[in-house]
Amino acid sequence: MKDFIDDELIEQLLEATRRPTAARVREVIGKARELKGLSPQETAILLQAEDRDLVSEILQAAREIKRMIYGNRLVLFAPLYIANYCANNCLYCGFRRGNKELNRVALTMGQIRGEVEVLAREGHKRLLMLCGEHPDRSGLDYFLEAIETAYGVKTEKGGEIRRINVEIAPQEVEGYRRLKKAGIGTYVLFQETYHHETYRKMHRDGPKADYLWRLTAMHRAQEGGINDVGIGALFGLYDYKFEVLGLLMHARQLERDCGVGPHTISIPRLEPALNAPAAMTPPCPVSDEDFQQLVAVIRLAVPYTGMILSTRETPAMRREIFDHGVSQISAGSRTNPGGYREGTSDGFRAAQFNLGDTRTLDEVIHDISTHGHIPSFCTACYRLGRTGQDFMDLAKPGLIQRFCRSNAIFTFMEYLEDYAAEETKTAGKKLIARLVAETDPAGVRETLTGRLARIEHGERDLYI
Ligand code: SAM
Ligand code: SF4
Repeated sequence: MKDFIDDELIEQLLEATRRPTAARVREVIGKARELKGLSPQETAILLQAEDRDLVSEILQAAREIKRMIYGNRLVLFAPLYIANYCANNCLYCGFRRGNKELNRVALTMGQIRGEVEVLAREGHKRLLMLCGEHPDRSGLDYFLEAIETAYGVKTEKGGEIRRINVEIAPQEVEGYRRLKKAGIGTYVLFQETYHHETYRKMHRDGPKADYLWRLTAMHRAQEGGINDVGIGALFGLYDYKFEVLGLLMHARQLERDCGVGPHTISIPRLEPALNAPAAMTPPCPVSDEDFQQLVAVIRLAVPYTGMILSTRETPAMRREIFDHGVSQISAGSRTNPGGYREGTSDGFRAAQFNLGDTRTLDEVIHDISTHGHIPSFCTACYRLGRTGQDFMDLAKPGLIQRFCRSNAIFTFMEYLEDYAAEETKTAGKKLIARLVAETDPAGVRETLTGRLARIEHGERDLYI
């Protein structure tokens, strides 16, 4: 496949849209409100807006679009790091081969079971499983066995993992076929930086040095039958405006070639990591204000693509950004393999990077639900086969909002019944009562009330 990221074109777009007029910015915001997405040029105009009032208008439009398409749900997941051996030497990552001080681990299947039990007992239903790239220590066979092991865990009160998304190095099409067969949800992979020269500097050797092999991974994943793919850029390596346009071009290429764009876009920002020079001094740090703007611009540019925010960000920053378009968040995370069972987040000596938000899942749930968000553990679309184009067909007319809102409330109620601390349970039930009262039409309200009563009486895993 040909390289479809044209650095020069992106730089030209950014140059040509410098200091846009207020009228032009407002015109683009108006177009974004039609929910049809934006062209790279329109997106560049919003990225180049600097006037504070105009930026506020962009944030406001992102809030409206987020509410319209996703409502106030936030889907929760936990990352599960199973191994930290790595053949690569990415300058920003604590797992890099050159980090001689890292405690290297590849969890055994028994240890993986132990990690998943901890997560299931906290109430998690969705995992993102990941590891370093190491053909001998954590190759595809090992990874597939880990998926099977994790899906096999059952704890008391019906605790189980219902969806495993995965983030591993680029594979051949056959590898993706095997991952699909193992029942994965989304295949996630970040390009890190779309800027070729920066990519070269950050990945001088090892398998990851091949930009094009990584760029085309999502195309191979689609060919291998994985409908839901998630792209991302690691913000802080190069100009964030360039990266947003790179993400958009990647999304459009997938739509063109595979008939469906990415299911999610991740927006990690660089965090400090042990012996990782580019993480300790990011080449192009992104300020909090710029980060908010870029999240909002992505929301406007690709309104139907989910956006994932991790615990790299602090609680305060997460609270700010949720409203601007984020639809999925991690919570209670550890980035050191074995960290859940050990109960350590210190793990700097085994971790990939430092965390900005170290609260437990229950603390995060209490926080977001008292701010009016509905925590969701829903996995219905994936289990009913509503993925890829089928998902988009439902999402676009707004039907997803109806399904998802009810399913979010059901899974939230399950969480409150089985895992929540008393204070979270009281706050959560108050929120659910309000959500039920606000539900229209009456038919949907009745279905909701009926099923919530069934959950309170012990039934589990209800979804529509
Ligand atoms: N090893 C595979 C790879 O590189 O694609 C799997 C994913 S890696 C374990 C997860 C992601 O963490 C990387 O793609 C990178 O974007 C991100 N990451 C690495 N170092 C980071 C840091 N210091 N701060 C924030 N994110 C980082
Ligand atoms: Fe290895 Fe991935 Fe870290 Fe690079 S980002 S060093 S490939 S784990």
